[in-house]
Amino acid sequence: MTTSVAFDPSLLAAELVADRLGVDLDTGLTAAEAAARLASDGPNELAAAPPVPLWRRLLAQLQDPLIYLLGVAVAVSLVAWLAEGASGVPVDAVVIAAIVVANAAIGFVQERRVEEAVAALASLTAVTCSVLRDGDLVRVPARDLVVGDVLALAEGDAVGADARLASAAALQVAEAALTGESMPVEKAATPLAQPAAIGDRGNMVFRGSEVARGVGRAVVTATGMSTEVGRIAALLDQTEPEPSPLQRELAALSKTLGLAVTAIAAVVVLTLAWVNGVHSAADLETMLLLGVSLAVAAVPEGLPAVLSLVLALGVRAMAKRRAVVTSLPAVETLGSASVVCSDKTGTLTRNEMTLTAVVTPSGMLERVDDAWTCVAGDEREVASDAVRLLAVGSLASNARLATAEGQPPHGDPTELAILEAARSFDGVTPRVDARRRLAEAPFTSERKLMSAVTEDADGRRELQVKGAPEALLPRCSAQRSRAGSAPLDEPARRRALGETERLSESAYRTLGVARRDLDPVEDPEQAAESDLELLGVVGLIDPPRAESRRAVAEAQRAGVRVVMITGDHPGTAARIAGDLGIVAPGSPVLTGVELDALDEAGLREAAGRVSVFARVSPEHKLRIVHALQAGGQVVAMTGDGVNDAPALRAADIGVAMGRAGTEVAKQAATMILGDDDFATIVAAIRQGRVVFDNIRKFLRYLLASNMGEVATVFLGVVLAGRLGLADASGTGLVVPLRATQILWINLVTDSAPALALGVDPEIDDVMARGPRQPDERILDGAMWHRVLVVGLLLAAASLVTLDRFLPGGLLAGDDSLATARTAAFTTLVLGQLLFALSARSAEHSALHALGSNRWLLGSLLLGVVLQVAVVEVPLLQAAFGTTGLDARQWLWCLGAAVLVVAVNDVEKLLTARRRRRGGEASGTGR
Ligand code: ADP
Ligand code: MG
Repeated sequence: MTTSVAFDPSLLAAELVADRLGVDLDTGLTAAEAAARLASDGPNELAAAPPVPLWRRLLAQLQDPLIYLLGVAVAVSLVAWLAEGASGVPVDAVVIAAIVVANAAIGFVQERRVEEAVAALASLTAVTCSVLRDGDLVRVPARDLVVGDVLALAEGDAVGADARLASAAALQVAEAALTGESMPVEKAATPLAQPAAIGDRGNMVFRGSEVARGVGRAVVTATGMSTEVGRIAALLDQTEPEPSPLQRELAALSKTLGLAVTAIAAVVVLTLAWVNGVHSAADLETMLLLGVSLAVAAVPEGLPAVLSLVLALGVRAMAKRRAVVTSLPAVETLGSASVVCSDKTGTLTRNEMTLTAVVTPSGMLERVDDAWTCVAGDEREVASDAVRLLAVGSLASNARLATAEGQPPHGDPTELAILEAARSFDGVTPRVDARRRLAEAPFTSERKLMSAVTEDADGRRELQVKGAPEALLPRCSAQRSRAGSAPLDEPARRRALGETERLSESAYRTLGVARRDLDPVEDPEQAAESDLELLGVVGLIDPPRAESRRAVAEAQRAGVRVVMITGDHPGTAARIAGDLGIVAPGSPVLTGVELDALDEAGLREAAGRVSVFARVSPEHKLRIVHALQAGGQVVAMTGDGVNDAPALRAADIGVAMGRAGTEVAKQAATMILGDDDFATIVAAIRQGRVVFDNIRKFLRYLLASNMGEVATVFLGVVLAGRLGLADASGTGLVVPLRATQILWINLVTDSAPALALGVDPEIDDVMARGPRQPDERILDGAMWHRVLVVGLLLAAASLVTLDRFLPGGLLAGDDSLATARTAAFTTLVLGQLLFALSARSAEHSALHALGSNRWLLGSLLLGVVLQVAVVEVPLLQAAFGTTGLDARQWLWCLGAAVLVVAVNDVEKLLTARRRRRGGEASGTGR
């Protein structure tokens, strides 16, 4: 649905467009009207492909060659049953069908949960827009925009719908998504004389573009599919995202194992046929079902799905801790981050500035607990200079302090600090209130300056400038004090820079303030920021965030280098970096100017060595990212402005500020910090590592379990004679486990416990090791070693159990085949369930932190209960060919299972110890 206007809004005056759309440009729509329009026009969304119906998705769960094969086997057994007169119930066929359906249902539920998690994420990272409603500016999700809404556009905003500009000031919009033109285009509100192509409609803004500079107001003329992008993309591009390295590895693994297991199953069937001969259709059916069931049970075809689910749950856990990642694979990348480049102001520090030092040409003032004291120069002279300086600084600011009427403070913390200091200082406020703003040149991180033109009641105009002292001083030709204006000679210049340096080294953020008179004929909009009179320099304190120091130490412990990037003075940067433990005091700092002088190779070398970058602008960030990546690092980079977006995209993990960040930065990022806090990045890295560890855990568990099943059946068939298996029945064909029992094991042990391992808390200290190499395989030697050990132990335990209860073989027993098989079956299940506890760690025993995962304990308990049921409940006995076990037999099975885990744990702890020793000796982290 969604609509557009029926006329060409670019040809009409904006007021006329607003009129026709029934909206007042100054107050916007009322909330009620907006809601009504939303209800009738539909949400401002691009249509997605129609959803796949439920039954098709359920059916899709069964689309697997192995399941087809199982179907064939079941069909064969049904035919055999019919041929034999269709007497009784075809138990195996019914049970297998039931298990296949249960498996499909589990897979379906998992898939749904992944989709829910992804959808929840999408809503957390959805584009929002500022609109006027009922006269107030409110931030709404772009999907709630309606025709007639008045958009307030500012630098860094994403344009949420097509709209006709009603006003624009220095507005530049990047329309690459629409026109392919990468340079931002100028926009203005004037009506066009004749219809123009999209790229030339200079008074329109379009959905999908970004505000690169300036501000504007615009009235929405089209939403959803009626927008220009909506018309281009008839359907939302729904191409699946590229699989991540891990997803690819697991998909490949699941294929390889599929082939291997199928081959083994075939060998099992052939061996059976060869050793026993095929005497009847029933024999053939048993063999076929066994082989196919084994393949179905042991092929980890569900791995990619479980992986997605675990990643999705990891993403959800991170979102709860205020780190919203925008895609599932980002969680993996987080775990391998080796460098975090962080903004200083607001991320490592609180961005709560207080102005506590004022240096004027005549002396210096300091503030302690709200009391100003003169620490150099003549007190009266310095105070009078400070009044002028603070007044000019305030006039060149856009912030607004909290008002008596209860309006909250608003604006840049740096400017708020200047305003607050000005208010605390006698005599400043009247000077500020006496002037009226005529024009403004906004602050940018590139210029590091901002200026304003104001005039007083007598029409005297003044240009006020504030900014980084190094940027400001070259524009000054004089300095002003109570004594009057004096040329800014070399000594005076040096003194100003020296004071700046001194303040910076005490962790102050420094700002210079300057002014000049404006000729009445000079255009206020074009006032040159030159020939200024320097009034002095102020120092602001911005304390570090409480968590920063600890988080830096934590990152470093984990082998992750922290790099500080700031627009501030190198002295300030070095001091704060030193205070936070990012570098040792006295470490080198690289400035933007020095960086500009370096070529690629030089910067690569420097980036490996220097961890503090000062007086840089956003484009430097991109070069730093590239230089670090060229050095083999996996880089996380923070940013908030439009100009940070390229660096955020280039970084392996672009981190946008959720509070201070622009829409454009957020859309470019892989992770959005809800609290803008550096510590949250480190927490997310930790969480990323935990998720990766958990993937290892469930892989270890699943692969070892499956290995146990395959080895049991394979060895059981090969060694049948020695186990006494063949002797037990006269009719030849004897299998160690029944097909339905194998499928049961798969159902009970693989699903819930594996998932519970996927959400395990941190067991091994993940921050005690270095970052994972991006190309490091998850299935490394250690993993295969563990899988082999556990798989063989499980097989040994269940086969010994079989032998123990059967007459003949190595251990003599006197129980029936059904009992022996039930005991072996139970041993295998209990062994797998208990092993889940051990699979949680590569270095701790199964008993470590036993109670910390109640999902796991719950799923194991459930598994045990189900196993007791399948052994002891008559109906299930009939279905699965089991017989009841007595206490002594249960105890044996339990003992064998415990033994498997105990032996494995001893071997694991010894291996871990050996590796630690080896690691210490060779000095590597792992
Ligand atoms: P940061 O990386 O700390 O956010 P910025 O780019 O915001 O650095 O600021 C760099 C320098 O520009 C500051 O050290 C200060 O001297 C100056 N500056 C910061 N904010 C303003 C402002 N609102 N107006 C004028 N100058 C500013
Ligand atoms: Mg800043």
